[in-house]
Amino acid sequence: MLTALFCGADQTVTGSMHHFEYIQKEGDIPFRFCVDAGFFQVGEHVREWHLNKQLFFKPSELDAVVLTHAHLDHVGRLPYLVAKGFNGPVFATEITAKIAAVVMADAAKQQFNAFVAAERGQMQMTREEEAFMKGMDAHEWVLYSNSDVEKTNGLFRDVAYHQTVDIHPNLAVTFYDAGHILGSAWITIVEKSTGKTLVCSGDLGSVDKPFIRDPEMPHNLTHIEAVFIETTYGNKLHATTNGRPELARLISQTAERGGTTLIPAFAVQRSQEIIFMILEAMEQGAVPRMPVYLDSPMADAVTTVFASHFKQFDNEAQGFQSQIHKQIFSHPLLHIIHTREQSIELNHLDTPSVIIAGSGMMNGGRILKHLAFHGGERKNSLLLVGYQAEGTIGRHLAEGASSVPIDGKMVHIQLQVHQMEGFSGHGDQDMLQKWLFSALPPAVFREKIDTTVFLVHGEPEGQAGFAAYIHDKVGKNVGVVTPAMGQTTVIWQ
Ligand SMILES: [Zn+2]
Repeated sequence: MLTALFCGADQTVTGSMHHFEYIQKEGDIPFRFCVDAGFFQVGEHVREWHLNKQLFFKPSELDAVVLTHAHLDHVGRLPYLVAKGFNGPVFATEITAKIAAVVMADAAKQQFNAFVAAERGQMQMTREEEAFMKGMDAHEWVLYSNSDVEKTNGLFRDVAYHQTVDIHPNLAVTFYDAGHILGSAWITIVEKSTGKTLVCSGDLGSVDKPFIRDPEMPHNLTHIEAVFIETTYGNKLHATTNGRPELARLISQTAERGGTTLIPAFAVQRSQEIIFMILEAMEQGAVPRMPVYLDSPMADAVTTVFASHFKQFDNEAQGFQSQIHKQIFSHPLLHIIHTREQSIELNHLDTPSVIIAGSGMMNGGRILKHLAFHGGERKNSLLLVGYQAEGTIGRHLAEGASSVPIDGKMVHIQLQVHQMEGFSGHGDQDMLQKWLFSALPPAVFREKIDTTVFLVHGEPEGQAGFAAYIHDKVGKNVGVVTPAMGQTTVIWQ
């Protein structure tokens, strides 16, 4: 019997973690494993710690973890499980393991910094939150420290795409390319003695993303008992999945004005995609040649991992690299900024350039220093290539703010701000339905009404839209479930 316990990303898009208990035959000791162990990201509030510290199982009784990819909302609680006693293997692709090491180390640092800020009274907290915090030391406050991260790094077992590993003598897990970030996977979990299968999508990407392969479609799967599918864009279609022409046009126009282009970008995948697209556009003559600066230590670390796995890039990127006779992230026009002094030196540039820096929503990081310096001149541009959450400086700028606070001072904004489309890392409704109906063709699905589709990793509105879409295609008798956190369900008997 396989039973699921939902521990995160339930009717929300962060904190992905699904716990399973497998009993091969009555009387056996249960085998317990998680698919993903993600962090809830709800702002720098104590509430976040409450949510992240809420586990519905004992980590010391956990036997294994299977990781779909290295985004914080899928891996950020893994060191917490280790800090609380988990000591089993973590199955993931090699690239996921390497990026996870960077992401988890950064999360440990952020948690410690948040503790220091809260102690100094620099964090907005409700009275309740202050009471929760009172008297706590750093050790109690943070979920985990660097040494927990190091211990976690030692638990990874590399698995290649299409390789099958037995996480239990009777449970085989296979990884397939999810096309979401480099190294990302969707997985099948098969009970070997019966063939009963559970498919977990992880996060699914879009087609035609730079250098990563398109998501693999599930084919020839039989005995599917359940599918867990992400629903970030369950009710939305992307206007475009190709932001390249617009990106090239805006950088070129800024350069013609003699200006600097600032691009806030997330460290994992988005920064590397933007670098790739810009350098490719320069090589193709769509953008004048100019230096591209990456000013983000974390993005630098992730880029190093990507660069050492360039053989995993898609055919288009491979072809492009052999055409220019170089690996794209070793391109001479790409300059990695390592120190704060080098970062400040960028203020003295007097020729057009592109500066890519974190954080992606401008709620911190080096991008703010560059905005403070370049924000006052109309010749410069700011290209927002990702979603900007409410309350962030990025969102204020996208909505046309004429000044924003940076380091306690209001900075007058004159530079040209563009909120751009076509860079989403998640597939839209069209991609989700293609993937789902490839695993479960509508005719099969309609007849196999004991198969259940669990909608995870989505907001209620998107999930309702996707549930309606599925019902429209296959009828209302089939099982489509939107689980709640803490709920348990039998996947198969
Ligand atoms: Zn993701």
